[in-house]
Amino acid sequence: MDVTVLCDAVAVFPEPIADALPGWTGEHAAWTSREMPGNVAADGGWWLHFHSYLLTDGSDALLVDTGIGPAGGAGAEWLGTEGRLPELLAAAGVVPDEIGTVVLTHVHLDHAGWNIDGSVPRFHKASYVIQADELAHVRGSASYERYLRAVDEAGQLRVVDGETALGAARLVPAPGHTPGHQVVVTEKAVLGGDVLVHPAQARWPELTYVYETEPDVAVRSRREVMAMAGAYGVPLAPAHLHAPLRIDVTGPAAVRRATGPGRCPAQRI
Ligand SMILES: [Zn+2]
Ligand SMILES: [Zn+2]
Repeated sequence: MDVTVLCDAVAVFPEPIADALPGWTGEHAAWTSREMPGNVAADGGWWLHFHSYLLTDGSDALLVDTGIGPAGGAGAEWLGTEGRLPELLAAAGVVPDEIGTVVLTHVHLDHAGWNIDGSVPRFHKASYVIQADELAHVRGSASYERYLRAVDEAGQLRVVDGETALGAARLVPAPGHTPGHQVVVTEKAVLGGDVLVHPAQARWPELTYVYETEPDVAVRSRREVMAMAGAYGVPLAPAHLHAPLRIDVTGPAAVRRATGPGRCPAQRI
């Protein structure tokens, strides 16, 4: 199986970093500048990447998360930039109908932005897979209307409950960021969604993010998912980090150094 990083967008977090990560100190900033400079903006702010992951295995293609979405969408409006996932998929030689499965780590605007094309699912032949706890969390919300209703009405929503095998990938619940947040375990990497949103949370898992629905549960999930990646000997690739993290006895470190500001090139993990 190949895992390809598709960098939908990059943007500076639109709020002060100390508001987003209460407890943020100069020590966190210094570590991040050293270990993950690709997540540090010129003014010291928080530079986020928005990564989807394309899993290909023979004739099967699976997409993990669908980025911030097009200009005019809620994700693009929030972040002041637009995604480019359709171009990246085309460059990777994949047409939308070849995607058999879309896994949503969770249903936030920066992870489900390209779910829909107009009023129909963008990936016509795909099952869109979410955890039951996530559907319960978003049902009735604006996010459900924007990102799931058309999928649900087309009969393309697949709701799973707990650990689920999906070909060569495995879905593992990692709640806390949202109640039904899940990660995707593959032989190449653990695709971590928002189990951690800032690289310093790998070094300090107790550093909570203000938009985590259950901070204590999120801290526990962070520790568990990092331990899992370390035990399997594969990198942890969350959605917003410039590069995957290697987790070993010396602690977390970036697998790759930043090549400069901006979107990263399509590359395999
Ligand atoms: Zn996110
Ligand atoms: Zn990137």
